[in-house]
Parts: sequence; C-alpha cells; structure tokens
Amino acid sequence: MPEILFTADANGRIDSLSEKFHQYTGKALHQLSALGWSDLVHAEEKDHTIDAWKSAIVQGTEFRSTCRLLAKDGTYHWFQCRAVPMQDKRRGTVRWFGVCADIDDHKTLEDKLAEQTETLARSNEDLQRFAYAAGHDLQEPLRAIGIFSEMLIRKQPKNDESSYLIAQIRRGVARMQDLIQSSLEFSRIVTITAGTECFSRLEDSLSDALWSLKAAVEESGAQIIRDPLPEVAGDQVMMSRVFQNLISNAIKFCSTGPPVIRIQATREGNANVISVSDNGIGIPMQFAETIFEPFRRIHSDNGRPGTGLGLASVRRIIEQNGGRIWVESEPGLGSTFFFTVKPAVRA
Ligand code: ADP
Repeated sequence: MPEILFTADANGRIDSLSEKFHQYTGKALHQLSALGWSDLVHAEEKDHTIDAWKSAIVQGTEFRSTCRLLAKDGTYHWFQCRAVPMQDKRRGTVRWFGVCADIDDHKTLEDKLAEQTETLARSNEDLQRFAYAAGHDLQEPLRAIGIFSEMLIRKQPKNDESSYLIAQIRRGVARMQDLIQSSLEFSRIVTITAGTECFSRLEDSLSDALWSLKAAVEESGAQIIRDPLPEVAGDQVMMSRVFQNLISNAIKFCSTGPPVIRIQATREGNANVISVSDNGIGIPMQFAETIFEPFRRIHSDNGRPGTGLGLASVRRIIEQNGGRIWVESEPGLGSTFFFTVKPAVRA
C-alpha cells in the first residue's frame, strides 16, 4: 500500500487527502471531518498520537507518530505518520503537509524478530544454566567413582590384565574430570567476562600465561619470542586465558623439533591485531572454522590430550570483547592464530 498524503490548515484541520486514503479506509474527506481522524487510530496509540499532533500545532514543529490505522475491512495496519508545517515569517504556520506510510510488513517482521531474539536469549540462558548445573552435579558422583574404584583396585591381585584395566579406569575418570572442569570454565565465561570498560596490559596478561605454562615451556624447550604488546580494552584475566590456551596448543601440537612461538601485535585501523604463531604440525585449512567449535579436535589424541574446548573458550572471550579470531596455517610448517582487540579507553 503506497503512502497516504494529506494537508491541513493552520489549526490542524485536515482539508485534503489523497485517493489512497479512500482506498485504505473506505471513507471520504467529508466523513472524516464528521468523525474526526483520531477515531481511525488504534486505541493503544490514540492518546499519544493526538497529544503529538496538538503539541506540533501549538509549537509549529514537525509531527511524528507510529500508530495503527483502521482499514475498511476492519483490520489495522501500522503506519508511520509525519507532517511538517509551512511557515510564514509574519503569520507563523500557514498549512501542514503530511504523509502516512504503511509499515505494516516491516513492523510485523521487526516484532517477530524481537520476539525470536528474546526467545533465543532466554533459551541460551537456560542452556547456560543447565550446562553449569549439570557440570556441577556430575562432579560429585564422579569423585565417588574415583574413590571407590581406587578402593577396589587396591584389593585386586596385580597381573598384566588387571593393570591394563586399572589404567583404563583411571584414564577414564581423569578424562571425565577434565571434560567437566573445562565445560564448567567454558560456561562461566559468559558471566565473568567484564566487557570493554576495563583495560588490560597485554604484556602482563602474557607474562601471567607464561608463568602458568612454565613447566610445559621448559619441558618442551620452547623458544618464546615476545614483541611489545599494547594496552587493550578487556579483562586482564580473560586475556591471559586467551594466551594460555593458544600457547599451550602451540606447544602441544609441535612438530619433531622444539617449538618456536612468536607473539606479535600490529595496528589495523582502530583495532589491535595480536598474533600467536608456531612452527608446529599445522592445521588443514578446511578445518579453519571447525576448530573453534566446542569439542572439535582434528588431530588424533596421540599423546596430545585435550577436551576440544580451548579454542571455543578463546573465541567466546574474544567475541564477547567485540573482537574476532581466525587462523592461518600450512600443514607441516605451522599455524598463526590472529585475534583483534580494541585499544584501551581510559575514563
Ligand atoms: P584441545 O587443545 O583441547 O584439543 P582446542 O579447542 O584448543 O582443543 O583445539 C581444537 C583443535 O584444534 C585441536 O584438537 C587441534 O586439532 C587443533 N589445534 C589447535 N591449536 C593448534 C595448533 N597450534 N597447531 C595445530 N593444531 C591446533
């Protein structure tokens, strides 16, 4: 439905209407004068539309209202109505020119989208709460399994077969504990990420991460090359967690030689791009997206344990901070993980 055009005199009395008005409402101008146009406005928007029109006339300022208007078939459509005054220096407002645009399709879509977004947010929250509660509740029975199987194991006569089975039980329990712990940490990121009003010195976040990884760095003989890093918007602990995950992966997925890991920063427009590169086994580029999904691991375990939640956590932290993360890699030569982070803004 195209737009309805109208004009009104200086006092706001409508004195001409385009043909579209008649087509939409089934009414002519003289019927409107008798009725008053406000009877066509939906009860919920009526008062504020009348108030807006009255105050526009008194002040000689533009009129705007988004309201539903009654159609000839008895239904209501959403319209965006606007009128501007034509003014004369001496006499003030002389006439009004107005337009009402049918925005029903747009409005219905917008309402549907808002409703869907709310439902999605609610189910995300539920899921988050469920993941946290499930992880929490699973810890206790698992601890019991661990303790009772240790008691049972101690009573078993030792032979090759029982030793193998015992090792499998211990491995299973340890893996389950790892998975639960990582899932809990993953689901907690939502609630503890602080947002962009705080800032962190990436140099410090990196030092904290390297301190936590001291044993792994020494054991692997990794060489760490650190370039100067900026201060950025984001939570210091979360940034440290990002480095810890990326560097521990760089060590874990190394080739035959000792890992060489370089951490660099460049500036692109208004964002800092931080990179962590390694000379490890690399990642086939068809998995460049998949590796950031929860529980996705692309290399066989082969002495490289993990839960598949490290990169998913990293991505969640970076995205919550308004940045993005990606990887470039050449299998056999190494990988470089890039992420963007906004510069620090101090109050
Ligand atoms: P995890 O390390 O627990 O397996 P992540 O979520 O940290 O899980 O990583 C997902 C997968 O991405 C890993 O299992 C591995 O296959 C691949 N990957 C991550 N980092 C690297 C890296 N630096 N070099 C090669 N592969 C990597």
